[in-house]
Amino acid sequence: MTKITRRTFTTYAGAAAAALAMPAIGRAQAPKARVVVIGGGFGGATAAKYVRQIDRQIDVTLVEPSASFTTCPFSNYVLAGFKTMADITHSYATLTASHGVKHVQTSAQAIDAAQKSVRLANGETLRYDKLIVSPGIDLRWGAIKGYDEAAAEKIPHAWRAGPQTTLLRQQLEAMPDGGTVVMAAPANPFRCPPGPYERASMIAYYLKANKPRSKILILDAKDAFSKQGLFQDGWKALYGDMITWVPLKDDGKVVEIDVNAKEVTTEFGKKHKGDVINLIPPQWAGAIARASGLANEAGWCPVNQTTFESTLHRDVHVVGDASIAGAMPKSGFAANSQGKVAAMAVVNAVNNRPMAAPTYVNTCYSLVSREYGISVADVYRVTDQGIVAVQGAGGVSPREAPPAFRFQESVYAEGWYASMTQEIWGS
Ligand SMILES: Cc1cc2nc3c(=O)[nH]c(=O)nc-3n(C[C@H](O)[C@H](O)[C@H](O)COP(=O)(O)OP(=O)(O)OC[C@H]3O[C@@H](n4cnc5c(N)ncnc54)[C@H](O)[C@@H]3O)c2cc1C
Repeated sequence: MTKITRRTFTTYAGAAAAALAMPAIGRAQAPKARVVVIGGGFGGATAAKYVRQIDRQIDVTLVEPSASFTTCPFSNYVLAGFKTMADITHSYATLTASHGVKHVQTSAQAIDAAQKSVRLANGETLRYDKLIVSPGIDLRWGAIKGYDEAAAEKIPHAWRAGPQTTLLRQQLEAMPDGGTVVMAAPANPFRCPPGPYERASMIAYYLKANKPRSKILILDAKDAFSKQGLFQDGWKALYGDMITWVPLKDDGKVVEIDVNAKEVTTEFGKKHKGDVINLIPPQWAGAIARASGLANEAGWCPVNQTTFESTLHRDVHVVGDASIAGAMPKSGFAANSQGKVAAMAVVNAVNNRPMAAPTYVNTCYSLVSREYGISVADVYRVTDQGIVAVQGAGGVSPREAPPAFRFQESVYAEGWYASMTQEIWGS
């Protein structure tokens, strides 16, 4: 019998650890299943990570054209000037190195649900057992007359973070003191319900410090908006009469834009000129979802509310903004919550395990100024009516609160962002 000395034990333990760390190729084990994920944003990157976290024997390939992801959350703070594009950009290195997700850096062109395959822009075709689709939103070009992809090069929407964010920031920097920023906000449903109003706040924050005689006009295609009372209280307290909001009933809906004249026209023919115009057009699910028969006639994707499996194609799950998720808003936090549930549903199906009833969560922080935060939080359950908010389990910030309370919420907003991006992208 071999006597185990401290030295041989260390050698054995080292060998065991090395075997565990060996790549799958060394142990020649075929994967249990192939999961393909389209889109490396909030929903897709979360799902890719958690499939691997729950079952390492499942092979996960992430199809995403970018080398890194730039978040819409906190992009309004780049406009305000206290965050940079680098602050809101996260690489996929942790997802690949620590979680073993394969990143194919190209876009998906077509899904063949019958053949269970995805055709890629680089010419390859990926076969899958389960597919998770999280392409986010597309802007509905032409829904506002005169607003198409070419127009967005001059009149930014900045509703997908990246060069559009930088363009809007440059235009704000170039505008004269005493100028007007015109914003157009869409009707529901759309990505990030409080987003346009946080954006108005952050533009006001910048203007107050740099061009205090300027004005912001928000033309809205709806009559009410998320955290409305809290935003309007904050605007009055911090910015006086700098921000004017025009609801649908007062002819707030923008229907046309003249890009060269920098002028928008509302439903009843009123014209508004802006030194800077930020037009946020109506939206629908990302093109790949619509082109692959995953969307309904309105352009959004119906899904089983417990698993996020498409009700139109088997073995395809749609999460995030593209999906129809009952009472849940189209937010990064909601997409993260749905991505985990879809990952669990996929792993359970692969392993022939039943799916437990899920609980979803969402919190949306918004800043009215750098030191003034407000929030809304909800917990969601699946009922016969679909996904609904659990009464009494969430809430909004109180209308009456001292500055210290608002400051504390602005600190929580930073904490939310840091923990969410750390969890999803590892940075
Ligand atoms: C100004 C603003 C502020 C916001 N602030 C917040 C906030 O504070 N908190 C919050 O929770 N949410 C916030 N949101 C909302 C949040 O950004 C979205 O809800 C979230 O990004 C949705 O996640 P998703 O996975 O559906 O889409 P995304 O995160 O947009 O990811 C989609 C990914 O899919 C990729 N993709 C698309 N098509 C293809 C294809 N054919 N092939 C391969 N890849 C493809 C894209 O490149 C992209 O990386 C904000 C949004 C805006 C606009």
